Amino acid sequence: MDSSSAETTIKKSVADTRAFLQAQEIPGMVIGDAYAPGSWASCERFDVEDPSYGAVVTDLPLGTIGHIDQAVSAAADAYRSGVWSDMIPRERGRVLAKLAHRLADAEKERLALLESIDIGKPLRVSRVDVEVCAGYFEYYAGLADKCLGTTQRVQSDGTGLVFREPVGVSAQIIPFNFPMQQIGRGVAPALAAGCSVVIKPSPEAALTASCIARLALESGVPEGVINVVTGGADIGEALVSHPMIHQVTFTGSVAAGISVTQKAAENVVPTLLELGGKSPSVVMNDYGRDAIAGVGRMAFYNTGQNCGAGTRLLLHRDIADQFLEELVGWAQALTVGPAQEDPYLGPLISARQLEKVNAYIALAKEEGGSFLLGGESPLRGRAQNGYFVEPTIITGLPRDSRLFSEEIFGPVLCVDVFETLDEAIQISNATEYGLSAYIWTQNLSGAMEFAKRVHSGGVSINGGVGTGIELPSGGVKKSGWGREKGPSALENYTYVKSVTVKH
Ligand code: NAD
Repeated sequence: MDSSSAETTIKKSVADTRAFLQAQEIPGMVIGDAYAPGSWASCERFDVEDPSYGAVVTDLPLGTIGHIDQAVSAAADAYRSGVWSDMIPRERGRVLAKLAHRLADAEKERLALLESIDIGKPLRVSRVDVEVCAGYFEYYAGLADKCLGTTQRVQSDGTGLVFREPVGVSAQIIPFNFPMQQIGRGVAPALAAGCSVVIKPSPEAALTASCIARLALESGVPEGVINVVTGGADIGEALVSHPMIHQVTFTGSVAAGISVTQKAAENVVPTLLELGGKSPSVVMNDYGRDAIAGVGRMAFYNTGQNCGAGTRLLLHRDIADQFLEELVGWAQALTVGPAQEDPYLGPLISARQLEKVNAYIALAKEEGGSFLLGGESPLRGRAQNGYFVEPTIITGLPRDSRLFSEEIFGPVLCVDVFETLDEAIQISNATEYGLSAYIWTQNLSGAMEFAKRVHSGGVSINGGVGTGIELPSGGVKKSGWGREKGPSALENYTYVKSVTVKH
């Protein structure tokens, strides 16, 4: 996989895209030492669609339950052999750092283009995804030799040692919306801790997973330590039900997360769940100038296919009209189009997702909503057969309406108005989700009051900062349990063992 020879310029047609993908020799799956092009030549295959054009552009091998068995066995054998789990931690860190550098440097443009083709992400957004993926490997490379145990003198002639051991084989189930970021988020700490992994990407976004795994092997991760099996829910189920799995990291919808937890529980295997959201964006009457673009970005980034999207906009009554006028002006200027042209909004992932989002838009009218933007048909860009939806802003919906309560996963922003911070907090918390919350204000004590009282795994005051890799992240309520990112994520992939020594 020599990216220096890869043609990574913008593809202007489906034919160009097909030719580009043909030349990439993407393995699709990685199991043990089988990752060379042609390893899966005899497998059944599934179509890969470019959602910008609604056209099939390539295909990938389709994993089976037999492949899951082989991948888990390869991972378990590698773990038991100690080839990675017993490697000197600093050396593990060096290997992960090498992978990080390849991702961030030589492979960046190629992977970004693959992701844009596969998911319809604007190139700019895909580039960020590669950088963040590389950032996770870099961050956890640095922590590989800081995964410390403790010692404790428990009596005059006895000492306790607390070892921190890798848990074993980690199943990593990945959704379609930010696959490279999510692979980095889960796989980097698992590998840093000494675990082996089996990755199951979404069938709607599986082009980059095997490329990353192959790069990991080429960077020095031993064969069997990182595996990728493609497929849908049935393959995910087989993975989380496998008796040789020790831990599951699942990112996806609430319904699938519940099912995954039930299956894993049958083998008493712990799960880490990163699920959906319907996050509030609260704008107080003293908001700063950057609140307009900040609110818009939180709602429409990645075409609203973002677990942490701020899709419930709560405006202080004093500024509501003025703010909406400016926000609509800002959103009207956003470009919508094929990912490879780098618009602000690419298409949705699939015809299924377009149908779902359009059904919500139709429902908004029945639920009493008024459209300040969007909501019309035919939609801009439809002529290209891509799955496009315009940025959509809706007011007047009852707080218990489905539009205002459910995760839509498209560029649809629902607006409500409040009078006091108390009321804003009460509306913010009136949801089954609790992933992210945003507040825009110059009043720091009000913002801190909000941060304390909102039921949410994360809070951003006047916009997010940095890539977020360094801080713990996760949800409360139906947004999930457990925390990824930051140093504490290593705890997901290690267990403590108490050893007593009488001396
Ligand atoms: P999804 O639940 O349909 O699929 C996610 C992954 O799980 C896919 O790989 C899928 O094949 C697999 N899967 C589906 N059903 C399964 C089952 N019963 N057993 C095992 N595996 C199964 O989700 P999606 O549509 O790919 O992604 C969108 C959802 O993911 C949204 O709800 C979004 O909020 C959530 N998400 C959450 C976070 C977070 O960090 N909290 C991040 C990204 C996406």
